[in-house]
Amino acid sequence: MKIKELTPKYVSNLPEQLEEGIFYICEDFAATSHKCCCGCGEDVYNKLGPAKWQLTKEPDGSISLHPSVGNWKYACRSHYWIQNNHVIDAGEMSSRAIKGVLKRDRRDRDRVIAQHNAQAPQTLWRRAVARIARAFRNLWR
Ligand SMILES: [Zn+2]
Repeated sequence: MKIKELTPKYVSNLPEQLEEGIFYICEDFAATSHKCCCGCGEDVYNKLGPAKWQLTKEPDGSISLHPSVGNWKYACRSHYWIQNNHVIDAGEMSSRAIKGVLKRDRRDRDRVIAQHNAQAPQTLWRRAVARIARAFRNLWR
């Protein structure tokens, strides 16, 4: 890892030109960006959200990102954790491990979607039943 430490910077929009060693955080759009910590110069974007990345603001003002950043779509294939602003090398990932992570990501996303869906149809169903009940009441009146 060329960059060992990141400085969090809160911005209203992610800049087009990223500076090495800065971890840009755009809370309005739940997005972050930084230059790949291996030093390859690629821009890395991480969306924040329930099935995406979790950004933790540590009591000392530093940030941590969970899960790890895996840049396997770039030539460098770097993989690291960001913990209290520190860049921790997570080691090179095998293709099999990468597939596992992608599968887990998908599963997490599916779970979030399933949770949403589990709530929605019930509400719709209850609404439909209420509407039918109302229609019947009007009919018998
Ligand atoms: Zn890189």
